Amino acid sequence: MKKLLKPDMKVKSIFEIPLDNLYERGFHNLIIDLDNTVTEWNGMDVCDSTAGWFQELRKRGFNACLVSNNLGERVFTIARRLGIPSINKAAKPRRRAFRQALDILDSGKYNTAVVGDQIFTDVLGGNRMGLFTILVDPINPKEFVGTRIMRIFEKLVFKEKSLEE
Ligand SMILES: [Mg+2]
Repeated sequence: MKKLLKPDMKVKSIFEIPLDNLYERGFHNLIIDLDNTVTEWNGMDVCDSTAGWFQELRKRGFNACLVSNNLGERVFTIARRLGIPSINKAAKPRRRAFRQALDILDSGKYNTAVVGDQIFTDVLGGNRMGLFTILVDPINPKEFVGTRIMRIFEKLVFKEKSLEE
């Protein structure tokens, strides 16, 4: 059984995702987290390089959907700016929003990857759905207090893993 807390791939940021490699492997759709993956936590700024990366995605034939646990309108505003669909109040790691995103993307488990910075929401949720999961380092350590607590557990998980290996 696939370990539910283990990402299939780990990279430093979205910019390091090997897009050609993913595409060749048949993953043409990306479900992408917002906070600390695409922007700083609760930040409104999308930097030029990030906007450029989303353009590059489109050019290479990928479809993307933002899926965020954040409650605000901000999710839609940023998604509009990036020219992609979005879901807020996603309640990851619950599966409902992932299913919705697959619908929106008109994609399936075999051709969709999840990108996010949190093990207990993005990776766990993606793995529960049977999707390919990519963990990125968080953009900024300033974050929601609940997330900070989850980080402590994430560290424990990684410690355990390195002991296993
Ligand atoms: Mg996040």
